[in-house]
Amino acid sequence: MSYIAQSTIQEVNHTLDALAVVGEYVRLEQRGGRYVGLCPFHNEKTPSFTVNPDLKLYHCFGCGKGGTVLNFVMEQEKLSFPEAVELLAKRLGVPIVYEHGQGQQDPGALSRMQELEQKTELYRRVAGSFHYLLMQGSEGTRAKHYVLSRGLSVETLDRFCLGYAPVDRRWLFLFLSQKGYSEAFLASSGLFSSKYPRSSFFSGRLMFPISDRQGRAIAFGGRLVSGEGPKYLNSPESNLYKKGQTLFALDHALSTIRNTQAVYIAEGYMDVIALHQAGIANAVAPLGTAFTDEQAQVLRRWAERVYLFFDADAAGRQAALKAILTCRRNGLVAEVVVPGHNLGPEGVYKDPADILKEAGPEVLQKSARNSIIDVEYLIIRSRSLFDLSDPEGKAKACDFMFPYLETLDSEVSRMASIEHIADVFGVDRMAVFQDYMNHIDSTQRHVSRRGGEENLRAAEHIRMNDELYLLIVVSIHGQWYPHLRTHLSIKEIEDPFAKELFIALEECFIYDESGMDALLSRISREDLRNFVIKQAASSEFSSKPEQLVSDGIKRIKRRRIEKRLSEIVMKLRIAASGTAEVHAKELLAEKMHIDAELRRMNEGR
Ligand code: ZN
Repeated sequence: MSYIAQSTIQEVNHTLDALAVVGEYVRLEQRGGRYVGLCPFHNEKTPSFTVNPDLKLYHCFGCGKGGTVLNFVMEQEKLSFPEAVELLAKRLGVPIVYEHGQGQQDPGALSRMQELEQKTELYRRVAGSFHYLLMQGSEGTRAKHYVLSRGLSVETLDRFCLGYAPVDRRWLFLFLSQKGYSEAFLASSGLFSSKYPRSSFFSGRLMFPISDRQGRAIAFGGRLVSGEGPKYLNSPESNLYKKGQTLFALDHALSTIRNTQAVYIAEGYMDVIALHQAGIANAVAPLGTAFTDEQAQVLRRWAERVYLFFDADAAGRQAALKAILTCRRNGLVAEVVVPGHNLGPEGVYKDPADILKEAGPEVLQKSARNSIIDVEYLIIRSRSLFDLSDPEGKAKACDFMFPYLETLDSEVSRMASIEHIADVFGVDRMAVFQDYMNHIDSTQRHVSRRGGEENLRAAEHIRMNDELYLLIVVSIHGQWYPHLRTHLSIKEIEDPFAKELFIALEECFIYDESGMDALLSRISREDLRNFVIKQAASSEFSSKPEQLVSDGIKRIKRRRIEKRLSEIVMKLRIAASGTAEVHAKELLAEKMHIDAELRRMNEGR
């Protein structure tokens, strides 16, 4: 069995930039000396997630999750430890050394990584072939005419690698087996029918490659051009491709989303591509589903504001209502694009693709800018849904707004919204507030937040004390360990957690390992590991380690001596009472010695 050499792991740890790696997933801001952001592991609206770039650690004060940057990548990418090391090594250009022999790693991990590479390579090849068939093949002419008639340019077709899947379902299998792919591998690729493993899943369709964030094709969407079947068809889900977590065109949109901290969400592939062609490069689409919480969490890593650019029909309006709640629930501000507004009397186009085709890119750009904030959109919607001249209609309109109020992140903004709604609907503010409270009572008042509290409680078993404090200082500033071990013996430590840290530090010292990562891997108790990470993430220990270490050692020594002194005094008292046989002379000698030492210590302070 082969496993990744320790030297490679060390080098990856050494080379990686914690802010850059974590920054791929979380929008980090510098506050004071710290880097904070919204935690990707729990739902929150004010940042309690921190990264310590020097120690390459992350920690969330909200849910208690924390660890090394490698742990973070494992969690985020759902990878095993060796997979995460490989991923980062490749990104950083660190050569991976494999060793043979008895590793303690998951034997399946490397082959999973290989499988991922093989599959994305296959999809890339298939996407390229479909694209060729669309652009050059005679059978693809109809599909090509269709996309060009929709106003897409040849350049755009190239950029998004649009393709055509031939009507003959046997074509793809023959083509790929000629290229040397095995039947078993192709059967598991998601490109073929599960019932007839040589029969292509897609036939007679305009093909849209769906890529992951790095731009690797992981699935396809196909729009029917000829023949029968559903208008749109998506690849089946796989370990690579999860519909609810993937966003179409995110690979194209990511850099602009980062720069603008805003993202456009449209309903379909064609809409997103139309927006990109019109220069709105931060547009993405969910994949044949409603916009999900997971997708919102993905976007929240880089964006603050979401522009919902949905179809101007009943289904589109319904989707917008749901998406507003999904955005707000996940800490994103939502605006709704109302393209009809400034388009002139001839009216409202159906969707962004329509606008591009009928009115051109300038009008599409102008439409995209025409958005209103979610609460105003909801008020407009409720005006058209309910009769506000009637008390019952007013009550229904308020009810309609309550799910939105629930998603707001602060009591202040909730109260402000309640007042605003009451004024707009012409209802007494207090009455709306009362109705809202009743609404909350009837739904659930205490859903979220529990997971986090439980995690925090688990970490509370460990209490900070002088010993633990010192060992944490040395854990964070590992270069002080040699000093510590020459001045303090583990026998002088009483706290069990401090003892365990001492042992872990000693092991690292003996095996010549450096870095927080090595230390954490030698701490067996998870709560202690988390405690160390949490302390490291706070900036309390960052400055003057020399002072903290020498003060810490002195404090522990003095406390031990004082303790011994009080024992002696106690025993001497017992001796004086004559109830037990005590070697009073020796005790007195020791007391004198201790008194002298304490004096010395106090003078040296
Ligand atoms: Zn958290």
